[in-house]
Amino acid sequence: MQIEYKPLPAGLYFVSTPIGAARDITLRALDVLATAEVLAAEDTRTLRKLMDIHGISLSNRPLIAYHDHNGPAQRPRLIAALKEGKSVAYASEAGTPLVADPGFVLAREAAAEGIRITAAPGPSAAVAALTVSALPSDRFFFAGFAPVAAGARKTALTELSKIPGTVIFYESPKRVQKLLDNLRETFGSERQAVVCRELTKKFEEVSRGSLAELAEMFSGRNLKGEIVVLVDRAHEVAVTAEEIEEALLERLKTMSVKDAAADAATALGLARRDLYQAALKLKGNA
Ligand code: SAM
Repeated sequence: MQIEYKPLPAGLYFVSTPIGAARDITLRALDVLATAEVLAAEDTRTLRKLMDIHGISLSNRPLIAYHDHNGPAQRPRLIAALKEGKSVAYASEAGTPLVADPGFVLAREAAAEGIRITAAPGPSAAVAALTVSALPSDRFFFAGFAPVAAGARKTALTELSKIPGTVIFYESPKRVQKLLDNLRETFGSERQAVVCRELTKKFEEVSRGSLAELAEMFSGRNLKGEIVVLVDRAHEVAVTAEEIEEALLERLKTMSVKDAAADAATALGLARRDLYQAALKLKGNA
């Protein structure tokens, strides 16, 4: 059966594409891809493949590569087409454009030109992961990829550890163990977290536990695939004075007062300042 498409109104269309399963594309996204006058993609081969799977031909429409490295050169071309009143559809390599993917500067420039911007919404690994994580979803914060440089990473993670909602990270499989270790140091060993791997794909895997348990679970594993890490917000835990004393005394056997206080504070989810005073006192009494 031949589908009769209505012409697409002028404007910029951000089209979400599957994050694994090719059939996770919406019917409207297919309509937009079938009818936009100009197509643009982060990876033109990936979009061609997706269109082939769903029987959409490119015909004689232009398909323009638009990614992080050629944005400044290609944007004027896309904006010019939009200003001529054309419909332009943009898809990133997978999931939702602008979510840890190109598209933001294009959106900003199009908005500044008064161009209509529309979404053909669909999959995003962040939302898929939040859905399967079973962590609280009332408030969540998308943190994307954590900075790689040690100093910037520590500062960013320390700030994120205070967010009163579920924090969502993207991470490469090679760096996930390092991320779990760094999260343990900044968010505390007991914080609940979830690691989602290969969502919607054959080897989908969802692992839940405290950051300490997950760090151990993933230690030494030669991981492959795509990964989202989610961390629960801090919950008030009642820690008794005996537990604090025990944690400090144990650490003071091998650590300085400052280090013992910092390490116990992370483990117990308490303020370093308070534990420093307690550790000083215990050291004085020893
Ligand atoms: N725009 C995409 C979205 O909406 O999710 C994200 C693109 S970002 C460049 C790629 C990262 O998304 C991966 O490194 C991984 O962290 C996450 N990701 C993408 N697909 C995934 C999947 N099927 N399972 C788990 N994580 C995925």
